[in-house]
Amino acid sequence: MNGAPLPWVGVSRCLLGQRVRYDGRDKFAPRVAALAGHCLLVPFCPEVEAGMPVPREPAHVGGSPLEPRFIGNRSLENHTFRIMGRIMARLDELARTPLSGYVFKSGSPSCAAVEMVSVFDDLGRTRGRSQGLFVRAFRERFPWVPVADERVLADHSGWAAFLEAVRRCHRRRGGGV
Ligand code: SF4
Repeated sequence: MNGAPLPWVGVSRCLLGQRVRYDGRDKFAPRVAALAGHCLLVPFCPEVEAGMPVPREPAHVGGSPLEPRFIGNRSLENHTFRIMGRIMARLDELARTPLSGYVFKSGSPSCAAVEMVSVFDDLGRTRGRSQGLFVRAFRERFPWVPVADERVLADHSGWAAFLEAVRRCHRRRGGGV
């Protein structure tokens, strides 16, 4: 450690052991938490911070891959407007930070980043695949920021490659690490 500011890395809150998932549980990922010695981790849960409760009804990506929506599995309630409002505000907040990386939770209708999730229509038919709603908006706004999920970081070479990409991004942005 040389005293230079650490790179900022956004993280899905559930990966840091916070119980914000739809089922009231977390998805603690030790290798994600281990980035804390090298980066400033910035947690965020788009669903909870949009005001959704814990626990809550599980959800999926509905509509179509071109126009994805956030839909409750049982109620088929459409929460897209609510959740996208918080997501767009979060992207504005992140634009004012030295963000240099992001680790998302796999398999989530909000946070899936590396492997896409299925998109279902109202009759339960598969219409294609999509990233989570937060990730789609994030990638559009910050295409230069390296992203990974906890599965990529579970492997040591994936962890090291991601950290190096974060450091490169941080240096390009004027950071010193
Ligand atoms: S995957 Fe994303 S939306 Fe789901 S609990 Fe974790 S941080 Fe929240």
